[in-house]
Amino acid sequence: MLKEIVLALSVSYPTIVDTIQDTISYISPRANQTQARKIINQEKAKLRFQEEIDLWVYKSLPGGKKAFSTRKANGQYVIGVVEDEITRTLLRHELYHIAKGDVEHSQLDNKRQAHDSINSWLNNQNLDQETQDYITHFKNCIEPSADLYSWTGLDIKHCQEN
Ligand SMILES: [Zn+2]
Repeated sequence: MLKEIVLALSVSYPTIVDTIQDTISYISPRANQTQARKIINQEKAKLRFQEEIDLWVYKSLPGGKKAFSTRKANGQYVIGVVEDEITRTLLRHELYHIAKGDVEHSQLDNKRQAHDSINSWLNNQNLDQETQDYITHFKNCIEPSADLYSWTGLDIKHCQEN
């Protein structure tokens, strides 16, 4: 019985998070690129994160994605955003990923390459077991943690590495 409840919770929790995230994103005021850079600096200070972060702005991203974060081969961190979707919440979400080390192993060197890599990631049907396990971990743990931080400022990394 308890097992079923826990299972139900772990299945429905990310869905609830997604719904709240969509609602917040819908009602949040949009920022332009200048405001976005200012917000990134303010929010970096809150996370005590001092590294430089580049901003890549897109007209759109594959799969209706609004933002991503990554790291270049030279070590510089990057936040990619869709021009009309920039909000403080969105930037806080991506900054949390960067500050928590979620993108340490990324190596994307330019705007175009990042766009294409999201595309192939979304369209790849033949993922190996390790990648599938990571996606599950990402959806159930990494994403909800970043969402909760982006809404509340609470730093609750609630999941263990697999
Ligand atoms: Zn995320």
